[in-house]
Amino acid sequence: MLERNIAAMAAFARAHGIALRPHSKTHKSPDIARRQIAAGALGNCCAKLGEAEVMAEAGIGGLLITSPVVSAPAIERLMALLARSPDLMVTADHPDNVAALARAAAAAGRSLSVVVDIDPGMHRTGVASPEAALALARQVAAAPALRYAGVQFYCGRHQHIEAFAQRRDEITERTAYLKGIVEALTADGLKPAIVTGGGTGTHAIDAALGVFSELQVGSYVFMDHQYNVCDLRGDGRAPFEQALQIDARVVSASTPGMATIDSGLKSMATEAGAPPILSGVPDGTTFRFAGDEHARITFPDGVSGPGIDAVVTLTPPHCDPTVNLYDAYHVVKGHTLVDIWPIAGRGRSR
Ligand code: PLP
Ligand code: MN
Repeated sequence: MLERNIAAMAAFARAHGIALRPHSKTHKSPDIARRQIAAGALGNCCAKLGEAEVMAEAGIGGLLITSPVVSAPAIERLMALLARSPDLMVTADHPDNVAALARAAAAAGRSLSVVVDIDPGMHRTGVASPEAALALARQVAAAPALRYAGVQFYCGRHQHIEAFAQRRDEITERTAYLKGIVEALTADGLKPAIVTGGGTGTHAIDAALGVFSELQVGSYVFMDHQYNVCDLRGDGRAPFEQALQIDARVVSASTPGMATIDSGLKSMATEAGAPPILSGVPDGTTFRFAGDEHARITFPDGVSGPGIDAVVTLTPPHCDPTVNLYDAYHVVKGHTLVDIWPIAGRGRSR
């Protein structure tokens, strides 16, 4: 399923003439990054410097750090990483940060590629206006030790708008804003070579609008329940499969009509609700968290369910923060364990 998801997104991108730099925040795994690159991706995005360090260590190139790197010690680490990965790119959204990056790169005798991050209105990162984008791009272009690589625009909130038409309308409006900035930069001699952004929820709309040169899709490799309720391409079909599953085990079944499994609040991200149960239980079984370590599954009236030691398979409500809770993937083909891949970027959140 993972392989089919990687191939499906790669084929979609090829058919639409758009590049992919998939986001490794989802998988934190060099093994998966390598497969995405083998399928044609330019490299991987990394949410944080620590994630990029792990990817570079494993030989993954074409890295873009999508959050600002601002503290002096972090910029020092960034320079060490640049020495190993000369094609590394970093985003920035503040003139003080650009000045600090320029000083550090000059002192290190290296050229650092910088992408100007533009806030689409969610107020997480990015410059807040077209004027600020232009000013920051000029500052990057003028710094001898920096290379102006382009712009980033990530509409996080929009990814999960369930109705396709509403998602398309809102993204179309936001992309017009981005397009205006790209045109203003171009008129100023600062045409962005890279226009990067987008996610699994908007990838089809982004490709159709044609403003991005590359997409930062992350969750498509695994999918999760949050995304599976969205009509991703407006055709009512699911282009990707839920490749990430949690095998929980029944550890107690003392009370008739219910059982306790060993997956509780510590086993998955919980902000998106309870996990749908994929298999191992009778139809109509319900799931309820029962604290840090456990959950209770309750069977329909008069129906008996699995006893102790049975496996109950769950679908993570939200894949990225769930992955960050585990040390390794158990890679399964059919019912056979074929490999174990370390989640090497686990916990590398700074
Ligand atoms: N780009 C950035 C900056 C992100 O923060 C994320 C996810 O949060 C992504 C790309 C990947 O998006 P998705 O998981 O929706 O494909
Ligand atoms: Mn996510």
